[in-house]
Amino acid sequence: MNQNKIGVFISERRKAKGWTQNQLAEKLGITDKAISKWETGRSMPDLSLFIPLCGLLEITLNELFAGECITDENIKEKADEVLMEVITNWLGNDKGKLKAEEITQKNVLEVQNISKIYETESNSVLAVNDVSFQIAQGRFVGIMGASGSGKTTLLNLIATIDKPTNGIIRIGGQNIVDIAEEDTANFRREHLGFVFQEYNLLETLTIYENIALALTVKETPKESIGQIIQSISEKLNISAVLDKFPYEVSGGQRQRCACARAIAVKPDIILADEPTGALDSHAAKQLLSVFVMLCKEYNATILMVTHDVMAASYCDRILFMQDGEIKATLNREQKNKQAFFADILKKIELIEGESHDVFEIVNS
Ligand code: ADP
Ligand code: MG
Repeated sequence: MNQNKIGVFISERRKAKGWTQNQLAEKLGITDKAISKWETGRSMPDLSLFIPLCGLLEITLNELFAGECITDENIKEKADEVLMEVITNWLGNDKGKLKAEEITQKNVLEVQNISKIYETESNSVLAVNDVSFQIAQGRFVGIMGASGSGKTTLLNLIATIDKPTNGIIRIGGQNIVDIAEEDTANFRREHLGFVFQEYNLLETLTIYENIALALTVKETPKESIGQIIQSISEKLNISAVLDKFPYEVSGGQRQRCACARAIAVKPDIILADEPTGALDSHAAKQLLSVFVMLCKEYNATILMVTHDVMAASYCDRILFMQDGEIKATLNREQKNKQAFFADILKKIELIEGESHDVFEIVNS
């Protein structure tokens, strides 16, 4: 990869826009020092900045990595190689491929033609528009999309927190749309696990008690609770913090505790809304590895909303939402993380077309 060439190219495109380094930095939410480093070839933009940077400079990812505007197909291939090199540097070299499938697993979640219309005083909003998909047991599926595309609404419908205007949602074969309001809390406890960005653990209970409470609610025999917690905690590397309160542990540990509590009760599906949103990249990678492990070793099924490409690259499949619809689906198949990461970046670029700015900047 020719970092100098890329730097010169960024500088040219920035100047063509009439922006100072400072102005570009502001638009990206980073310091002008970082821009200066890129332009002099001393460093490369962070992966999370690729999409917003290309959007601002009106270039494609391939052009960014080629360090020039591309007209010729050969350069495109070359640029693909460079992109893989950058991603490998950043994510590490993941040789582990997905487990050899496919023992046909039953569908844990079936979403059929669901829509959600929010009626407000002044207008009605079609937040989810005729969405259908299935998830088989043991899969780790991501939902990506710009802010306001309907991700949280979709997750809330599946979580029985909200009811769809139309359509059917089956979890473990049961149509959850029919569940009476007063039974939803029970259903959630019995069948669902939650790992959200905030509000995960009860602050007045220790980590151990948080997990034990979930098991007690699920009527687990008292004698086996200790043993279940011990074995899961070892797997998730939280044994040392079991006696602490949630506010005494790090954000990463808290999220792993939320995972432990979620998996302990063997839910049909674990729902995660931006679970890595408040974590640094090391803690985020640890949490995502835990998700992958839960799928492999516990046959857990996970549906995760994220706008972070790095997080999405751990999934088996990504659903891309735009304006309430699923606009595209991407399967990881036998690809490694880096290759899938590159696929996701390109898909976002394709879907977003001209309007790159709508994907949020993850970190700087
Ligand atoms: P995302 O999670 O992808 O950012 P949301 O599901 O939160 O998107 O929102 C999708 C759309 O539905 C947005 O236009 C949002 O303003 C609207 N919306 C979400 N919740 C409500 C609500 N309770 N009442 C009215 N409109 C809502
Ligand atoms: Mg949301």
